[in-house]
Amino acid sequence: MQFGLTEEQLAVKEAAHRLAQEKFAPRAAEIDETGEFPWDNVDLLRESGFIGMAYPEEFGGGGSDHLSHLLVKEEISRACLSTCTIMAAQYLGGMPLMLAGTQEQKEKYLPRLAEGEILAAFGLTESDAGSDAGKITTTAQKNSDSYVINGRKCFVTNGGVADFYTVFAKTDPEAGTRGITAFIIEKDTPGFTFGKSENKMGIRGSATRELVFEDCHIPIENLLGEEGGGYKLALRTLDYTRPGVGAEAVGLAQAALDASLRYSTERAVFGSVIAEKQAIAFMLADMATEIEAARMLVYKVGAMINAGVKRFTLESSQAKLYASEMARNVVHKAVQIHGGYGFMKEFPVERYYRDQRITELYEGTSEIQRLIISGNLLRDHAKNL
Ligand SMILES: Cc1cc2nc3c(=O)[nH]c(=O)nc-3n(C[C@H](O)[C@H](O)[C@H](O)COP(=O)(O)OP(=O)(O)OC[C@H]3O[C@@H](n4cnc5c(N)ncnc54)[C@H](O)[C@@H]3O)c2cc1C
Repeated sequence: MQFGLTEEQLAVKEAAHRLAQEKFAPRAAEIDETGEFPWDNVDLLRESGFIGMAYPEEFGGGGSDHLSHLLVKEEISRACLSTCTIMAAQYLGGMPLMLAGTQEQKEKYLPRLAEGEILAAFGLTESDAGSDAGKITTTAQKNSDSYVINGRKCFVTNGGVADFYTVFAKTDPEAGTRGITAFIIEKDTPGFTFGKSENKMGIRGSATRELVFEDCHIPIENLLGEEGGGYKLALRTLDYTRPGVGAEAVGLAQAALDASLRYSTERAVFGSVIAEKQAIAFMLADMATEIEAARMLVYKVGAMINAGVKRFTLESSQAKLYASEMARNVVHKAVQIHGGYGFMKEFPVERYYRDQRITELYEGTSEIQRLIISGNLLRDHAKNL
């Protein structure tokens, strides 16, 4: 079942499994019910080193390989997707710094991010610019010694709880995507406040909040990468993080299958347990098969990055697209297998059903993944003509 993993990767996966099942799984329903941000789980992610495992070793991170990082995300999502989303945002928010930061910027922030001493967030989306990110209207005007940021970001994961924000703003509002620039903005910067906290369908323990910038002056040295290079940097970041959403979907779907195996071998109707009815057994067979197929797509991207492959946009989108839609099919069947009880909060599949939905939305909707995949295919096809 764990085809192609090294002994070390298996050990990391097992350690994540143990932590997630012992500590995160028992708290997941309560976190979902209260919508409380689980600082205790963040502490456990810090203590275990998982929060910064993919940050470079030279800056205090775990320096782990990419596939191992995906394995950990899979296991944490199998227990609590809210908790994994917090860890995923730590990587999403910090990735632009890893990709484009100066040595000084890296020395200043990476060690604290790697330790989990501070949390990170990634602010691209605005109320009128989600998929169409080139339409953002947040501006960054350059003065002699600072940039002045004005605008609002919405739906920011770890918004409010993070100290470190990668924020995308227009330095040239006329230049479309080429006018977008990335900045590092610290939480307590004057002119930076927080707006609406979202009340969500799922991943209710993860903070999702508006960022508000009103004449927020940030030092010139907080420019991240090149002026006008922000859009490309955001897309490159997402290439690295989207397989993580795929891993979340695989972990969640595995949890739904685990619950369905338990339930279907205990629930008896018409004289036998429902697992013995072919209609139910075949659902279990399809669920397991689809999960495994998605898992292989996700692991493949991790292995590609480990192998030093430079271009993996297509595979990254395929892994996210397939895994998130696979998880939708699986949680649907899991509720069906549970019958009326699947609709009740006493059973975890009710939460999985709601939590799954986010995997098809954040870090680019399924429609956007299909645009990326088809765009890549058609470009390659044209090149080969
Ligand atoms: C819980 C949560 C957490 C999030 N966290 C973050 C975060 O940390 N940082 C951040 O920057 N953003 C975050 N987001 C934002 C998320 O990435 C966007 O919601 C998502 O990219 C979609 O944008 P939108 O909501 O504006 O939808 P829209 O772009 O308005 O899309 C609406 C519908 O139209 C479809 N559509 C759009 N364009 C096309 C097209 N060209 N062809 C076909 N169909 C299309 C979409 O697929 C969708 O079905 C988060 C969102 C949620 C819900």
